[in-house]
Amino acid sequence: MDANATTPLLPEVFEAMRPFWIEHFGNASSIHQQGQHARAAVDHARESVAELLHCRSSEIVFTSGGTESDNLALFGILQPFIASGEPAHLITTSSEHHAVLHAAEALRDRGVEVTFLGCTPQGLIEPEALRAALRPNTKLVSIMLANNETGVIQPVAELAAIAHEHGALFHTDAVQAAGKLPLDLSKSGELKNVDLLSISGHKMYAPQGTGILFCCRKVRLAPLFFGGSHERQRRPGTENVPGIVALGRASELATSWLTTNAGDPHLDSEMWVSNAPTNSPAHLAALRDRLETGLLNSVEDAGVNGAGPPRVCNTTNIYFDHVEAEALVIALDLKGLSVSGGSACQSGATEPSHVLTAMGLSPARASASVRFSLSRLTTAEEIDRALDIVPAAVARLRTLSPTWRQPSEALILPRPKTPDALVR
Ligand code: PLP
Repeated sequence: MDANATTPLLPEVFEAMRPFWIEHFGNASSIHQQGQHARAAVDHARESVAELLHCRSSEIVFTSGGTESDNLALFGILQPFIASGEPAHLITTSSEHHAVLHAAEALRDRGVEVTFLGCTPQGLIEPEALRAALRPNTKLVSIMLANNETGVIQPVAELAAIAHEHGALFHTDAVQAAGKLPLDLSKSGELKNVDLLSISGHKMYAPQGTGILFCCRKVRLAPLFFGGSHERQRRPGTENVPGIVALGRASELATSWLTTNAGDPHLDSEMWVSNAPTNSPAHLAALRDRLETGLLNSVEDAGVNGAGPPRVCNTTNIYFDHVEAEALVIALDLKGLSVSGGSACQSGATEPSHVLTAMGLSPARASASVRFSLSRLTTAEEIDRALDIVPAAVARLRTLSPTWRQPSEALILPRPKTPDALVR
């Protein structure tokens, strides 16, 4: 249950890309038949991605993944201002993925003014906070669509409209939203004000090392690399034909999965599981809810981080107070269940998650938080197994915790030594 880290390659996606490793290994820039076959496959994949996003195929740039797409968006817009010496301001948030956060810091090192917006305790970015941060020289706003740790969905349509009102471009990291939420970038679509949007292949059942940047045709993007004229000069380099074909097929599957009958919204969560069509967004959300409710009912001192706002259908982030998430991740791994902890290893030290601390969680609670992220292949049986093993693992770890069951004692600070005590 760690699909936000990476998803399995779907068999249909593997089958689509396989011939391009073996029989049809042409370079899409070659004029001979092998090359033309590869070119046609790349063009077809571009159309499939454009259909998923409701945009033009010419607005799709294939990249090596979400990190590159985010960097291309931020540097592609701001690098020309750095080069010309014109003051430029970027607004992003403290709860972005490091692909945006660290790119923003690198831009700040190069002279771009950067504002990092905070979020509410539920993990939401408030439109008014964005409005207040905009300046006459704000060139770009970058706010993610769905958070990778909590699944919280930002009001991107509203945020992008505000950015446009002030003449700034808008980028969104949609790595954790693509294939989970409908994304409509057309003139009449919800995301019509989004100028740049990043996607990673390996979060939507395509291979690792593949990605997409949507770049609205009106936006001039400076390339990160220099070389050939591939991807309309926006991303030079021989195309990864098998990877692009896989992205195209994964997009087709996502388009059809997202439009699978959503079921009856009046049914309760348990009913959804049995009634929603299997392998639909509604079914996945019901499985997630069953896991979440089951865990909260069976484990005390536990709660959901980011509960309240809309969330993507596959993610829940739960704190289990008095447990080190790292220990829980290892204990569950030994039982065959993969999850992620609310902390990240930075320069050899385990730091509480920057996303959870930005939401105001104490370092202790952030370090006691675990992310469960389901995939389209997760079954009800797997949820039931998780409901067996997680509470047992939490209970076992709590018996080892110095703060469990004596929370009031743990909070009592040692009495300061009196001068008398010091003399004796
Ligand atoms: N953005 C978000 C929200 C992510 O979750 C990730 C990966 O976890 C990335 C960007 C980076 O994507 P990639 O692993 O394809 O470089």
